[in-house]
Amino acid sequence: MTDSNRIVSRRDFLKTAAGAAAMIGAIGNPATASQQQAGMPTRPFGRTGIDVPILSFGGSLNTSLSTLLLKQAVKWGVTYWDTANTYMGGRSEKGMGKYLEKYPADRKRIFLVTKSHAWNTKGMSEDLNLSLDRMQTDYIDLYFIHSVSSSSELTEDKKAWAEKKKAAGKIRLFGFSTHSNMAECMLAASGLGWIDGIMMRYNYRLMHADDMQRAMDKCSQAGIGLTAMKSQGGGQVKTDTESELKLAGRFMKKGFTDAQAKLKAVWEHPNIASICTEMPNMTQLMSNVAAAMNRTTLSAREVDLLRQYARETRSDCCIGCAAICESAVDGDIPIGDVMRYLMYARCYGDRHRGRIHFQNIPLRIRRQMEGVDYGPAEQRCPQKMTIGKLMREALKELG
Ligand code: SF4
Repeated sequence: MTDSNRIVSRRDFLKTAAGAAAMIGAIGNPATASQQQAGMPTRPFGRTGIDVPILSFGGSLNTSLSTLLLKQAVKWGVTYWDTANTYMGGRSEKGMGKYLEKYPADRKRIFLVTKSHAWNTKGMSEDLNLSLDRMQTDYIDLYFIHSVSSSSELTEDKKAWAEKKKAAGKIRLFGFSTHSNMAECMLAASGLGWIDGIMMRYNYRLMHADDMQRAMDKCSQAGIGLTAMKSQGGGQVKTDTESELKLAGRFMKKGFTDAQAKLKAVWEHPNIASICTEMPNMTQLMSNVAAAMNRTTLSAREVDLLRQYARETRSDCCIGCAAICESAVDGDIPIGDVMRYLMYARCYGDRHRGRIHFQNIPLRIRRQMEGVDYGPAEQRCPQKMTIGKLMREALKELG
């Protein structure tokens, strides 16, 4: 075989679902052939009657540059795509539209999700029309209010809006994403009867939190589909620590990367329909697809390793309970949001994104941030984060 034949053969191999499953071997997974079943597993999305792949494509990137990546995702069964009208200033939605224009037959296969950050229903209508236009589609499968942080945002006029748009065929399902005060928002949603789906942070750090477990159970009983995001521990504002390297070494011995193990820990929760994760390149896509297709579950010892790591690195990670710290300081400092922007910059390595978000904070508040006494917030923070130090670092790094 010539070198070029060898390259073509490998490429063709990777284009198949079985090829992706077999890649697990290449990253050292000890699963047997029977555990590496070809095909992306699916799960019911609540009681909507729709099955979704357990891995979804997080589109908070410029997907106009990623048509090939999207094509490969579809081939491997990653047919749940998540975006928002604000991601990359609209380039994420436009890129998905570019893909759907090129491959219109794929529209029916894709469970398409986007979000509106508008404060009122008029703005939501404008956002929805813009999203439909950008993504070259007549309907959105699941439409989210972006980043709900209080149950008071789930108002009757939004319910009426959702019903109207469903009746008009512009959206099939409605719900919200949440990063802060998640348990409160989810519990409230479970009693409303008009929320079909929720995307929330959920990972090995949060899986032992009683309030989250309760909220997830209630949502599942109410038939709400749940998608986990930030599943590899999102919220981390400090990386490359000794504990992180130690954890990676331990999982490598077991045949998983630590990133794959973190995904598996989330899939173990039966009420999680899908994990939405950003996969900006083929390597990341392949690694996550391989983890999804491999049916090996984590042992109790491995779950314990993650729990121990979460404990050891607790103060490196914000879990989004912003009501706790924000109510402890003067002014309207959005501590939870700033922690998330730091995470984009440090954990995702996307400083540009962190800066764009940070600079949307009104100048008046950014100026206030410098003089605030964060001591009371630090005392209340369940993660024992050094909030004052991190706020000052954010001002320097992202300001
Ligand atoms: S800084 Fe602490 S209290 Fe504030 S949102 Fe993060 S984890 Fe919660």
